[in-house]
Amino acid sequence: MTKDQLNGFTGFRTHENFPAHDGAASSDAAVLDDAAALSDDALSSDVRSEKHDPEKLALIPSVERRWSWVEVDLSSIRHNAMVAKQRIGQGCRLMVVVKADAYGHGAVRVAKTALNCGAEYLGVATVDEAIELREALINAPILVLAEPPLSAIPLLVAYKIMPTVYTPEFAIQYGEEADLHQARAPYHLKVNTGMNRIGVRYDEVVEFMRRVDFHRALDLVGTFTHFATADCSETLDFQIQVKRFVESLNALKAAGVSPGIVHAANSAATFRYPEVHFDMVRLGIALYGLHPCPQTRQMVELRPAMSVHARIVDIKTLGMSEGVSYGLFYRSPGSVKICTLPIGYADGLRRGLSGRTDVILQGQRCKQAGTICMDYCMFEVNMRVYGNKIRLNPQIGDEVLLVGRSGGSAITIDDMAQTLDTVAHEVTIGFASRMPRIYT
Ligand SMILES: *Cc1c(COP(=O)(O)O)cnc(C)c1O
Repeated sequence: MTKDQLNGFTGFRTHENFPAHDGAASSDAAVLDDAAALSDDALSSDVRSEKHDPEKLALIPSVERRWSWVEVDLSSIRHNAMVAKQRIGQGCRLMVVVKADAYGHGAVRVAKTALNCGAEYLGVATVDEAIELREALINAPILVLAEPPLSAIPLLVAYKIMPTVYTPEFAIQYGEEADLHQARAPYHLKVNTGMNRIGVRYDEVVEFMRRVDFHRALDLVGTFTHFATADCSETLDFQIQVKRFVESLNALKAAGVSPGIVHAANSAATFRYPEVHFDMVRLGIALYGLHPCPQTRQMVELRPAMSVHARIVDIKTLGMSEGVSYGLFYRSPGSVKICTLPIGYADGLRRGLSGRTDVILQGQRCKQAGTICMDYCMFEVNMRVYGNKIRLNPQIGDEVLLVGRSGGSAITIDDMAQTLDTVAHEVTIGFASRMPRIYT
């Protein structure tokens, strides 16, 4: 492919090349990938013309490349971590669960913030999530809340990442690998007490330890279980799980095995059931300021850390009954301005919220209008002034809140979760996908 052909493909007709930036349209990127494969060096300068200073280009902030972003208020993370610390008291450790990029809030920044507020342990779901924290020079103990595939074991030993263990095969191979490097193989044993997801059955823990305990490198440093119903109003199933867990701990002790750090509570159990704090709690959703269930609302004051922002990129006045967005399901009632925001379901603004959520402009709630697109959504500004409302005068570039509070109005992650019939966890994680994150 010649240079001129490449320029033709990019849509840039001049002999100037296009500037490289993060948001290069994917079709352009695909052309470049193919071109690079054809002839690496010859074309590398075509990616970004030398006439454009790369350092100057890099200085253009991500929020000025596209007008939508997520803000994470680290002082709220601090507040929530300290509230939890206070609740569990001394002698009980705080593990902060920062899996899925800290529920969309950014794992490294959240982990560092929480560790500075007295958190002692980090919990993640995958080996790669743990490696990301180690590469950011975080030294705290990290527990992967899963037993990874056998082939990942060398990574655990190399990065000093603790696995969850519930199969003898994994335990032995992990011990062997550690031995090979004159290292220890610390792990936490997962007990299945009724969630029936992963773990050794509560009445088989002693048998399990007999099969692995001979290995000299293995260290059982913790024993834990996970509740299926800590956030439900019904409590019988929860009590059954607690009873089974205590039975398994007693059986281990009777067999001469120390269970190490005992832990069971997620956010809901941390605030609802102090009797299951044991030696450590695993705080996820509450660290981010969201309530795991309605019952905890009266028990603790949490501060949501995440807000979602965008700026208006287009405004139009529509006549009565003109439609908006795919399907034209929204019809103008007349006397409205329709404003467009560069945020859509590819950014985590779930399509199921179409016509069922609001935005906040200049402290006032406005209705989201029409189907939420992949990259855009629209909202309606009513130009009829009534009551004591101030007439809004939207302008291109005006900042709008999709999640957050301003001027006495609030739109929350919980509102969205409720509308979507899902949990807050899923909504916050969605906003991690494409937007830049700004820490305040
Ligand atoms: C995700 C997770 C948690 C955290 O749960 P929250 O409800 O978000 O507090 C705790 N323990 C385990 C095993 C988990 O997978």
